[in-house]
Amino acid sequence: MAKVHNYSAGPCILPQEVFEEASKAVLNFNNSGLSLLEMSHRSKDFVDVMEEARSLVKEILEVPEGYTVLFLQGGASLGFLKAAYNMMRTHKKGGYLNTGVWAKKALKEANFMGEAVTVASSEDKNFNYIPKGYSIPSDLDYLHYTSNNTIYGTQFKSIPETDLPLICDMSSDIFSKKVDISKFDLIYAGAQKNLGPAGATLYIVKDEILGKSSVKIPTMLDLKTHADKDSMFNTPPVFSTYVSMLTLRWLKKNGGIQWIEARNEAKAALLYAEIDANPLFKGAAAVEDRSNMNVTFVLTDESRTEEFTKKLNDANISGLKGHRSVGGFRASMYNALPLESVQVLVDVMKTM
Ligand SMILES: *Cc1c(COP(=O)(O)O)cnc(C)c1O
Repeated sequence: MAKVHNYSAGPCILPQEVFEEASKAVLNFNNSGLSLLEMSHRSKDFVDVMEEARSLVKEILEVPEGYTVLFLQGGASLGFLKAAYNMMRTHKKGGYLNTGVWAKKALKEANFMGEAVTVASSEDKNFNYIPKGYSIPSDLDYLHYTSNNTIYGTQFKSIPETDLPLICDMSSDIFSKKVDISKFDLIYAGAQKNLGPAGATLYIVKDEILGKSSVKIPTMLDLKTHADKDSMFNTPPVFSTYVSMLTLRWLKKNGGIQWIEARNEAKAALLYAEIDANPLFKGAAAVEDRSNMNVTFVLTDESRTEEFTKKLNDANISGLKGHRSVGGFRASMYNALPLESVQVLVDVMKTM
């Protein structure tokens, strides 16, 4: 089969060697005669997987002492609710930077046990930029933001300045570049963008925040429940955690965050250069806020959409259709997408 250049926004491309190793584990894991999918999550084989996955996260992201790493179920969408439950304090108010659909969904959840306050928003321009120069009220328990806006193709280039406890949904850019974890009280990310298959959700939790909520938290939503049991309170998402571990091994072996950050910058530079040089294409996001992960663009002459789409198909480029709320095209260039795939796309654009 011809190679497909996979620009899917998520679930998305993972390294080929990871798929090969994962498929072996499905048939016979660690020579146990059992599939990874039919063994107890309490078996030594699986406990070792969970521990290696957790420790690779710490190593690769240089997570400081005093943080716990968890692989839980529920997706980032349950993270919206968990974050609010666990971080409510005396004000029972959370502050939100409303930078898109996901940010807005996170905000909505805080109203279940407290109050969500919109600190800044870019909704006035269909979320095509990152708000700047806003002031943050002090009567808030935390500030929440979305580091990369998967749908709109915008990305925070620096961590928001605040004295408040900081929460971040890093679903679509975690492991893509260096981040100072010590700035955060809570980070969460669905695995299926840059880490592994759908099913697991990564949490990086500052231990100090555990057990401090001002509201009563249902057991499964309390991060302390899971931290106390080393991410094994209930059955963890075993396959997704395992494949995430393989992807982290791949990342480490190739040179870790420094390597992937340079590679991601090279991919983004190549594609944005063509968008800016070619009069048929126009970037959808404000230039200074452009995402290195999700590149959104439109055609300046929509009558040529069919021609472009056909050329994409002929070149085996898949997953480039834009999200319905932005239109146009979106090239998601997560970690495992090679530079060669971006070159193939740019070569097609040059013929337009
Ligand atoms: C995909 C995505 C989500 C939703 O993740 P689920 O795991 O499907 O709940 C949330 N936030 C961001 C930034 C995303 O890209």
